Amino acid sequence: MNKPIVIQGAMQVEIASLVAQLDEVVVETAGGWTFWSGLLGGVPVVISRTGMGMSNAAAATALAIERYAPAAVINQGTAGGHDPALQPNDLVLGTRVIHLGAFQSPFRDAGAGSDTLAWRPLDLMDQSESAEFTMPVPMSFDADPALLALAREVGYRAGRVVDGVIGSSDVWNNELDRIAHFHARYGTLVEEMEAASVALVCGQYGLPFLGVRVVSNNIVNGAAHDVSTANACQAFVTALLSRYQSPVAALLRPPLSAEEQA
Ligand code: SAH
Repeated sequence: MNKPIVIQGAMQVEIASLVAQLDEVVVETAGGWTFWSGLLGGVPVVISRTGMGMSNAAAATALAIERYAPAAVINQGTAGGHDPALQPNDLVLGTRVIHLGAFQSPFRDAGAGSDTLAWRPLDLMDQSESAEFTMPVPMSFDADPALLALAREVGYRAGRVVDGVIGSSDVWNNELDRIAHFHARYGTLVEEMEAASVALVCGQYGLPFLGVRVVSNNIVNGAAHDVSTANACQAFVTALLSRYQSPVAALLRPPLSAEEQA
């Protein structure tokens, strides 16, 4: 049996239609996290409801990797637009995901206020003993090339599909100047609250990762929040999984060990 693919969503609405399609479902919980193992179009998957935010996402990812030894992790769900061209139901394939929650503020004296645009990104993975671990751009995690190639083959009718940068933090940003800063400086197309945390944990395990996000709101162009866009994202991921048997997907699968072949 091939190793499963973990497919994550933060909220029930972001995983419900995937769970509804599973065959041979086994439901397991650990702490506050639920995992639905089964077959999606014949492909072994583990659907994971991570809960919202970076800490929930990190814990759910580590648990899933330890318990299910997956071949890869796909983090998907809703996101807010940073690019005025993006409309609800448009989909961003995260070529990279970046961490928008780790910064060091330059010193400001009492009474001098706060300027978040001056904050310097922090490298939380810095291994040196140096006290200086700021950097010009935030921590960035690349999509697995084979998973990204697979995603680019998928047809999608609900909106456009674009390649781009997904930004993650525990902050929901509604300050247009801050959003414009992230978009201009770091190239973010959308923001959400989980993907970079998941990518960081996958990196620690050397596991392939892909972030796929549907635009559910876009304060830059005034598009209101429509959480039902989560269904289009899940349909996309289902279609992606159905291509998992394609030639490009074979690149994802390690050769079977002697034990597995027996
Ligand atoms: N509980 C609320 C919505 C929560 S939205 C409700 O049911 O309406 C927060 C979740 O959606 C997070 O998991 C995050 O990943 C995602 N999200 C969608 N749009 C976002 C935005 N503009 N900024 C940050 N996170 C967003």
